[in-house]
Amino acid sequence: VRIGIVGSEQAKFTPLTERAARAFIRRLLTRPGVSAVVSGACHLGGVDSYAREEGEAIGRAVFEFAPAVRSWSDGYKPRNAKIASASDHVVCITVRELPASYEGMRFPLCYHCKVATHVKSGGCWTVNEAIRLGKGGYVYVIEPDGRVVRER
Ligand SMILES: [Zn+2]
Repeated sequence: VRIGIVGSEQAKFTPLTERAARAFIRRLLTRPGVSAVVSGACHLGGVDSYAREEGEAIGRAVFEFAPAVRSWSDGYKPRNAKIASASDHVVCITVRELPASYEGMRFPLCYHCKVATHVKSGGCWTVNEAIRLGKGGYVYVIEPDGRVVRER
């Protein structure tokens, strides 16, 4: 089983939520039958880096799809579609709220999931694409205190 693991960039995590995300990824990758992790090699780090590092640490195969260019239509969207195609199911890991230190764009809702309860992630698009392909797609949210909650 190949699990696609995608989600938020490094700047959206605190040390505590990063530890929680890494521990959760490690649990996903140690489930019976999981042989590989698929992710997106995001240049901003975060979940893509955690997925690669945790996968390598326990000897899972790691498949990374980097975007050809840093734009949605020609880069991230086709890259995300490749991740969905290469995965048996896709898990997006995002956060409940942005840290005060975050200086990037803020959105009132995750427009991929149409909810305001977690921070928007392109990974949620990849979850939608996996579902469209008839695969499993799940969204998990890391709370500020490190708890992990499944939202989809
Ligand atoms: Zn979402």
